[in-house]
Amino acid sequence: MAAEPWIFASANPHKLAEVQAICPVRPLPLGLPSAPETHDSLHANALAKAAFYVSFVQQPVVAEDSGLFVPALGGKPGVHSARYGGPVPLLIAMQGISHRQAYFAAVVVAYRSPAEYTFFTGYLAGTIATEMRGSQGFGYDPIFIPQGETQTLAELGADWKNLHSHRAQAFKAFRLWLEKHLT
Ligand code: IMP
Repeated sequence: MAAEPWIFASANPHKLAEVQAICPVRPLPLGLPSAPETHDSLHANALAKAAFYVSFVQQPVVAEDSGLFVPALGGKPGVHSARYGGPVPLLIAMQGISHRQAYFAAVVVAYRSPAEYTFFTGYLAGTIATEMRGSQGFGYDPIFIPQGETQTLAELGADWKNLHSHRAQAFKAFRLWLEKHLT
């Protein structure tokens, strides 16, 4: 009998859709509280989310924490990307800055217990645009232009992201790990 898909421990519907395009995961049950994100690293936040939701669902989960890192801003918004306020404050902070390199990072953790978990990571390099462009995706997608492209993630859309994004890379590694562990 095939194993039940893992639960993706995230309340973000955009992330769920992206992850389900890559590997079979189930959503959390409705009505759970939001996990606290109080740590200063993606790894620690991913672990904390996983431990928080495992305590509700009582079965293994896969959790993720991600962010956009801009070296010219000392790495901001980074781990605090969800609370930074999105593209508009970032564009304002970047006014007059010519060094516009940036990268997304995603840390995924397959978590059974505090003693049994495995991390997977993914990165996407690019630059911060000077204005918002495109209507697809979420978060900072309208202002992020991946390296080698001229369009923003919000213009490139889901198919591009599912092939190349930081989240896609980390979840593809998780999928490979699952395949190894189920055979
Ligand atoms: P968290 O992992 O729930 O803390 O949220 C990460 C935040 O980083 C999101 O709310 C977005 O603001 C931003 N972020 C992470 N991945 C992406 C992405 O693929 N596109 C756009 N923004 C992202």
